[in-house]
Amino acid sequence: NQDEDKVIEYMDELEFLALTAGATVVKRFTQKLTQPDSKTFIGSGKAQEIREYVKENHINTIIFDDELSPSQLKNLEKEIEVKILDRTNLILDIFAQRAQTSYARTQVELAQYQYLLPRLTRMWTHLERQKGGIGMRGPGETEIETDRRIIRDRISLLKEKLKTIDKQMSTQRQNRGKVVRAALVGYTNVGKSTLMNAISKSEVFAENKLFATLDTTVRKVVIGNLPFLLTDTVGFIRKLPTQLVESFKSTLDEVREADLLIHVVDISHESFEDHINSVNQILMEINAHQKPMIMVFNKIDDFTYEKKDEDDLTPETRKNISLEEWKKTWMSKSKYPTVFISALTKENFSEMKKIIYDEVLKIHISRFPYND
Ligand code: GDP
Repeated sequence: NQDEDKVIEYMDELEFLALTAGATVVKRFTQKLTQPDSKTFIGSGKAQEIREYVKENHINTIIFDDELSPSQLKNLEKEIEVKILDRTNLILDIFAQRAQTSYARTQVELAQYQYLLPRLTRMWTHLERQKGGIGMRGPGETEIETDRRIIRDRISLLKEKLKTIDKQMSTQRQNRGKVVRAALVGYTNVGKSTLMNAISKSEVFAENKLFATLDTTVRKVVIGNLPFLLTDTVGFIRKLPTQLVESFKSTLDEVREADLLIHVVDISHESFEDHINSVNQILMEINAHQKPMIMVFNKIDDFTYEKKDEDDLTPETRKNISLEEWKKTWMSKSKYPTVFISALTKENFSEMKKIIYDEVLKIHISRFPYND
């Protein structure tokens, strides 16, 4: 069943995110609803079931694979009586752990406060309960207002700070002159950093967890005497919190201002086509979808498939598609130059370099038409 496969895949991804954030996942809950409950996101029966499980097994956190509204969060915490994180919260937490430069840290802090602001009352309810509640309403309200004001001030300050850095970065980008700029884009964990390392022979942090890359790295690369700049960008992900899309504006500017996009895909991943769609969606959102692009299908060394017997009557699944068949379909379907490689074993590297060279050269020639 396709829907069930999707659910499992989404839950796998969420578990991977949770692991990245440092959590240990012990149990998954799913529910089929035509639409989320406006008050509690899940139905009350399901909430009860979770509540019992949490009590029996001394669970300290529940994570939802969606952004919950401030009131859903509040109601759920009341009902289940345990710390609740939503997808946005979790992703922000991972970004916070991984931000390395002051720029990235400022971006994450801004996104966190923007997330927090409409959810402040929730924290207050807890305090109120602790203090006994009665008669606390007046001073409580005042305190929330004070907190809100402090946070709003902080948000303006961070925005100012980012604006200044944005300006500096934009000047830096302009100063790079007319050298062709290529940007690696792709879903998170597809091998962009690994590829960057392999192409530029410099060390960029690569790790088998989500979001190893938070800050953009720019490297000068030379292929066949042709120099160009290569940027490694933040990994795209399904349902990237809007707060992050906004605050990572400058990171995404690298993509927006690139001359050429190198779209890296993990072909060993079962839902690589969904990943491609997510990436294209974000490219569309930042208006970068019409740039020249190269499709690089990575991790062919890790690709597996189950060949079916001739007399096997069960329907074909995507597991039965061989790499050759994928190549055939993608090569003919894609309007972009396409190549299948392994960044790890460097299989087909010269073919990829040739393609990159050709594309960079085209842009270079259009820019310097009289320089033969
Ligand atoms: P990024 O998030 O897109 O920058 O991905 P990374 O470069 O950090 O790589 C994510 C994981 O995939 C790491 O564990 C890499 O070692 C692994 N990886 C990258 N390229 C390949 C490849 O060609 N084959 C295999 N098997 N693993 C790869």
